[in-house]
Amino acid sequence: MQVPIASLRNGAGPTVLLMAGNHGDEYPGQVAILNLWRELRAGDVSGHLILIPCLNPPAAHAATRLSPLDGKNFNRCFPGNPVGTPSEILADYLTTVLFPLADVVIDLHTGGRSLTFLPTAHMHLVPDPAQRRAMLAATEAFLTDVAFLYADVAGTGLLPVEAERQGKIVITTEMGGGEVVPASVHRLCQRGLRNVLVHCGVLQGELETRTAPVRWVQALDREDYRFAPESGLYESCVDPGDPVSKGQTLGRIHFLERPDREPLAVLAHEAGMLIAGRAPSMVKQGDCVACIAHDVDPWSDSR
Ligand SMILES: [Zn+2]
Repeated sequence: MQVPIASLRNGAGPTVLLMAGNHGDEYPGQVAILNLWRELRAGDVSGHLILIPCLNPPAAHAATRLSPLDGKNFNRCFPGNPVGTPSEILADYLTTVLFPLADVVIDLHTGGRSLTFLPTAHMHLVPDPAQRRAMLAATEAFLTDVAFLYADVAGTGLLPVEAERQGKIVITTEMGGGEVVPASVHRLCQRGLRNVLVHCGVLQGELETRTAPVRWVQALDREDYRFAPESGLYESCVDPGDPVSKGQTLGRIHFLERPDREPLAVLAHEAGMLIAGRAPSMVKQGDCVACIAHDVDPWSDSR
């Protein structure tokens, strides 16, 4: 497995490690970094910019979340294992070689094939106040209308968590999802990414600022993530970005073998905004079908 890596270095400045394709079936970030790879010259950089357009090429070619080589979720492989599977060896290389070089780590995601996200920049709330402030400012520089604080409801071993543990400024995204990438999402991803690189000081250029403030939302409670209680055919009843009220029907599961049976409603446990919904129509019991986020001011105890 070959993983192309570009290193552009010029003068003094920060070191930024920019990556996508952690999950293979998440493409806008891969496109954005491929474009930067061809467009940028070392003279455009102040400091050191390391580009990895695709961390998981076999999964990207196969349009899968997991690596077909070893069945691993790359974003559950950290800190890695130098004598493990291909995914674990690459995770170890990032943990021990590339992360220690970096001041800023950027890992671009989408909802993959399974979830369609409102395009957002997102981050963890890290405990260190200085690191948290730097991450909030960098996340806002992505220029998305909504920014999202998320929780790890599905396991450990995440790339951002290892980079955060090493004290890095970590910036991530959920740039839509499903199998369709609208041109507007590509544009948002590429414009936001360039602006973050200018914000970080590694790319020369003019910094764009938003006219309206970013709307911050969070989904930190496991209940904010709604799962299918049964397998069936899912009908979405709200779109990402829509407001939802407590008890509202988010979607309905139909039963192909039982047309007489009433569809099973998946309800909002609380009011908020739908930040992500199910992309493919067929669902299996336990699939995440909706995520509800709530307004928050993450700066309130960070200023
Ligand atoms: Zn992902």
